[in-house]
Amino acid sequence: MFLKIENKKIICKIKYKKIRHAYLRITPDYHLDIILPDNGKLSAETLLKEKRNWLRRKVREIENSVRLFDGKIVYYKGKKYKIKIIPDNNSRIEFSKNFMNIYKSKKRKTENIVLNFLADETLEYVSKKVEEVAERLNLFPDFVSIKKLKSFGHCTRDGKIFFNSKLICLPTKLIDYVVCHELIHLKHFNHSKKFKSELAKILPEYKELEKQLKRYYW
Ligand SMILES: [Zn+2]
Repeated sequence: MFLKIENKKIICKIKYKKIRHAYLRITPDYHLDIILPDNGKLSAETLLKEKRNWLRRKVREIENSVRLFDGKIVYYKGKKYKIKIIPDNNSRIEFSKNFMNIYKSKKRKTENIVLNFLADETLEYVSKKVEEVAERLNLFPDFVSIKKLKSFGHCTRDGKIFFNSKLICLPTKLIDYVVCHELIHLKHFNHSKKFKSELAKILPEYKELEKQLKRYYW
């Protein structure tokens, strides 16, 4: 079954679960899961009618979203590059205009080369940024590293901060936002008013940055 919303074809799948409240879930490639309580009281049609506006908004959000790395395209500091493979035994990465040129032998997997490159660049960038911002905020993490994460960053209760190893794909002002966000978690371990006012002190435009950050995914 499929729907058309905002001129996009949405593939729908209905699932029944032992739950009280129905909900919808949509993926960036326009697959919609309709999850209904198994008591049969609510139909998919009724739910979709109720959620029409929410769905329209979600579809518009997806249309505006940016995938940062898909094997053919990669973003680096917010700029889009096409990946070009050039056979060479001396593997390296060079940028030229809109291309990320990957020099490599046949044996090495392109994806691994790109991911390693992004991880190295991310670690270098965030390490410097953390030092700079920590000084300004007077908040010092015990440990900073990168990790494969779904989120952009993560702060632990014992003062360790991890950043997504592909963070360097984002525009630098958004990377800087993530750095500030995680550092402030050292003081406020939630998104409370205090957390937000601390964030506003160092980044008055933080709401706009959060809005921009929502557009990006991997
Ligand atoms: Zn947070």
